[in-house]
Amino acid sequence: MPIDATQPYDDQNIFAKILRGEIPSRRVYEDEWAVAFHDIAPLAPVHILVIPRGAYVSWDDFSANASAEEIAGFVRAVGIVARDLGLVAPGYRLLANVGGHGGQEVPHLHVHMFGGQPLGAMLAR
Ligand code: AMP
Repeated sequence: MPIDATQPYDDQNIFAKILRGEIPSRRVYEDEWAVAFHDIAPLAPVHILVIPRGAYVSWDDFSANASAEEIAGFVRAVGIVARDLGLVAPGYRLLANVGGHGGQEVPHLHVHMFGGQPLGAMLAR
C-alpha cells in the first residue's frame, strides 16, 4: 500500500528500525550520512537500498529540509556504493519512489540501486 509522502515522519517505519539495529539487514556500506543494504525482495541481480541516516519521509522531504551536508553526504554515499560494487562500467539504475503515484511503500527516503544485467526500458509500457 503506497504511502502519503506529505505525512510526518513515522519513526516506527521498517527502515528506521534497520537504522537503529532493531531488525537485521545485509549491509554493504555505511558512513556518517547513509546506510546501504540488500533489498529483501531483489528485482535484479544487484538490488541495493541506500538510505540517509536522517529522518526524512521521501526525496521531497529530504530535498526541502535536509542540510547541505546531509545532501552531499548522502549523494556521495550513493556514488561510493555503486563504485564499490563495480557497477559503473557495466552501468546501473537509480530509482526513488515518492508517494502514491510513485508506489513508495516505506516512508523513509530510499534510493534503489539496480544492476548486474541490462535493465531494459525505464518503465513498463
Ligand atoms: P518502495 O516501494 O520504493 O517503498 O520500496 C520499498 C522496498 O523495501 C521494496 O523493494 C522492499 O522489497 C524493500 N524492503 C521492505 N522491507 C525490507 C527489509 N526488511 N529489508 C530490506 N528491504 C526491505
